Amino acid sequence: MNVLISVDLEGVAGIATRQQIHPGGHDYPIARALMTAEANAAVAGAFEGGATSVVVNDSHGSADNLLGEQLDRRADYVVGDPKPLDMLQELTPQTGVVLFVGYHAGAADPAGVLGHTYSGGAFTDVRLNAGSIGEAELNALLVAAAGVPLGLVTGDDVICAVAEKAFPGVVTVPVKTARGRTAVRSRHPAAAREAIAAGAARAVANASCGAVRPLAVPSELVIEADLRPSGAAELVALVPGTERTGARTVRFQAAGPREALDVLIVWSALTSHYSSR
Ligand SMILES: [Zn+2]
Repeated sequence: MNVLISVDLEGVAGIATRQQIHPGGHDYPIARALMTAEANAAVAGAFEGGATSVVVNDSHGSADNLLGEQLDRRADYVVGDPKPLDMLQELTPQTGVVLFVGYHAGAADPAGVLGHTYSGGAFTDVRLNAGSIGEAELNALLVAAAGVPLGLVTGDDVICAVAEKAFPGVVTVPVKTARGRTAVRSRHPAAAREAIAAGAARAVANASCGAVRPLAVPSELVIEADLRPSGAAELVALVPGTERTGARTVRFQAAGPREALDVLIVWSALTSHYSSR
């Protein structure tokens, strides 16, 4: 039972502000430690639940947040970006189950703590087949396309509610309750970690006995994004296959979840480039 744990930062217990999630923010060092400790809780739970190997993928920002020296030594970890599978690097058809730790709601969600989809600077909304999505939903499709079940989602109450609806059989662990885009009522980090370890153990056990199954991938995948900077759409529409459908809106029909992700990453990079000129 090989387990892949994708760890983001916005959904970690105690995290609510931008100061905490950007390198250079005065509370960022504390946030990195909280993120690392939640990753460890998930690793410990995964082994408890029957994992034989665990790899942790750093999935926040430039993916160099986890404090390697403090990570559970039984797990390998992936650091740095860009990498082909982004938040899911090391996902293979041999992966037994994937766990999302520290996840958050999407850009268009009115309630999620620190909600965004891939890049808050680039996208004000990302839609898949006309419905707004966040990173969890698109990553879940990549997991599904590999024929692997998604076992666990942890984060605020908002992303947990999204996950319960979108991913049948998934275990959710809400570690905090949204009180605003940059405000939460959080569980104590130690209590959150206990709950995450228990959730990870249950998720891995569920995957071992087939209680959670790989999700279905829709046959058609139309990805759309509303770009934050006005004018960026002209540049982004130069990407082959990308169609500009509004002043700030672009659209692409993807052959699969991986292509949808690739296109989003390119759109985001081009939009950042446009903004920085
Ligand atoms: Zn993040």
